[in-house]
Amino acid sequence: MGKQDFIDQTLAGLREKGLYNTIRTIEGANESWVTIEGKRVLNLCSNNYLGFANDERLRAAAKKAIEDYGVGPGAVRSIAGTQSIHIELERRIAEFKGTEAALSFQSGLYANLATIPLLMGKEDVLFTDELNHASIIDGVRLTKAQRVIFPHRDMAALAEKLEEHKDIPKKLIITDGVFSMDGDLAPLPAIVELAEKFDAMVMVDDAHGEGVLGRSGRGIVDHFNLHGRVDIEGGTFSKAFGSMGGYVAGSERLIEILRQQARPFLFSSASTPADVAGCIAAIDILEESDEPVRKLWANGDYFKAKLQEFGFDTGESETPITPVMLGEADTAWAFSKRLFEEDVFATAIAFPTVPRGKARIRAMLSAAHTQEDLDFSVETFVKVGRELGVIS
Ligand SMILES: *Cc1c(COP(=O)(O)O)cnc(C)c1O
Repeated sequence: MGKQDFIDQTLAGLREKGLYNTIRTIEGANESWVTIEGKRVLNLCSNNYLGFANDERLRAAAKKAIEDYGVGPGAVRSIAGTQSIHIELERRIAEFKGTEAALSFQSGLYANLATIPLLMGKEDVLFTDELNHASIIDGVRLTKAQRVIFPHRDMAALAEKLEEHKDIPKKLIITDGVFSMDGDLAPLPAIVELAEKFDAMVMVDDAHGEGVLGRSGRGIVDHFNLHGRVDIEGGTFSKAFGSMGGYVAGSERLIEILRQQARPFLFSSASTPADVAGCIAAIDILEESDEPVRKLWANGDYFKAKLQEFGFDTGESETPITPVMLGEADTAWAFSKRLFEEDVFATAIAFPTVPRGKARIRAMLSAAHTQEDLDFSVETFVKVGRELGVIS
């Protein structure tokens, strides 16, 4: 037995269970059509919601930032100093979100790993939705706080748990804003009311809400008009914003403690000037016009309505995210494979990412898709759906 043989066994196990993931290689930029292994395919699986990932304006801003600030940040900000472009981004996020302050991170994952363990110690209790994103789960795992996992969007259960733990002074409720695999929203107004009643803090991870919900994509807090009532907003620039990085927005003192003590801030270098410039350019575009956001919704609505018309089950989505529910993992994999043969790139999502028996294709239209693209996608879904007996 070699000392790394256990790895082969694990990999063989994944293959046996049908969980082995073969990652496709995209030649070139992430756009609505991409080239994979020499084949042009319509891209329905990116989170590049607004088509910003290869937008001319973001590209120009990134190039200019390289001219002005160079390629790398040099070291962690607390040691090497912070470049003014990061400060500018943070001011712009806070303005865009309507909070006192904001701090940028290298990713949305880091934003969660930075914030949750910093705020919560072993005397404290946190309440987390069972379907929260893995990066929230990992942030929670880094704390010694007591954890209460409440059933998905179940406010009666949350109220009951808060009541049970009401004597613990420091409480934090954490939720995704938009749940990415189903496209449903956190009941944030109800969460905020409960939080106010029980004097708990609220944190929302708005990774799939920014650029999608609210005025010009200001996110879920704006969508529900809860400004000033959500303690911590976190999110990512790698989805609708088309660039890379994460952020936390909230009160001046929250941001100050993160700057002083958050480990991903202290022990990992800042994101690159080019990434940061891309984020600022995305905010520029959205502050100027809500056109990209409206286009995203129009495309999502059209696609969803058409699929439903043909008899597909598109789940409970309240956003442009369109889960095409297929049941067993085998069906979903076969569906995705046939779509690809027909020039549509849409990955199957199965257990453990979603519950068993709820495998699906998560179809994601963007603002960059044309009417022709939409009709081609619908046509192809219908063709494959009939062939596999998913619809009649
Ligand atoms: C994608 C995602 C993240 C991670 O963002 P990155 O910037 O890619 O690290 C965090 N939270 C949620 C809810 C996400 O969907």
